[in-house]
Amino acid sequence: MIEQQLIQFCEQVRSEYFGSDGRKIESRYKNYRGLRATVQWNHERIRLNISAHYQQAPSEARKILILILLAKANRKRIPLKIREPLNRFHRSWQNENEPKRRAPAGYQTRGKYYDLHKIFNEVNEKYFADSVEIQYLGWSKRQSRRRLGFYDKRRDLLVVSRIFDSRKVPVEVVEYIVYHEMLHKVIPPIARSGRRIVHTTEFRSRERHFDQFDRVQQWLKKYPGKL
Ligand SMILES: [Zn+2]
Repeated sequence: MIEQQLIQFCEQVRSEYFGSDGRKIESRYKNYRGLRATVQWNHERIRLNISAHYQQAPSEARKILILILLAKANRKRIPLKIREPLNRFHRSWQNENEPKRRAPAGYQTRGKYYDLHKIFNEVNEKYFADSVEIQYLGWSKRQSRRRLGFYDKRRDLLVVSRIFDSRKVPVEVVEYIVYHEMLHKVIPPIARSGRRIVHTTEFRSRERHFDQFDRVQQWLKKYPGKL
């Protein structure tokens, strides 16, 4: 029954945005663990497989998801700015359903101004397709000016210096530090002539993928500490 409604909904979205091309739409909810949705198509049919978790999504968000999938099957692209209701659903779903990254003794994820857990999820979604798992996350215990952030592999712990938990600090600075430390998890150090290099060439080039890289670098000049 639910699937019949889903198919009808897909057909409505298609005729509203692309017009019908006579291809049959097959659409079903699947028991994926996360928020996954895929589309396959040929000249006869379009098949959408959508995670059953999307049943909880507001219909506006579900419509955008279907629109994105159908656009692929029509070789069109959907402007990024209309995706916000879907992104909002993704964020709230992840906050509720993803395993919580606890902070070990003495560390906290919720600061006075910034919630590191929320920032971590956003950075993970935007730059890593939600693929990075980190066990522990937290603000530093002290106002460290020497160490602006670090990732400790042994404890699988990502820490951001508490000096950035401030109204005066733009959110992208905190996002950038989290991004930098996540890269430490993703890109392992290499050894060269007996030295351990953590900021490898690959690391430095991936760092530049950060949206406001130059602006954040300018801002960080005020802080001579290490990352
Ligand atoms: Zn570093």
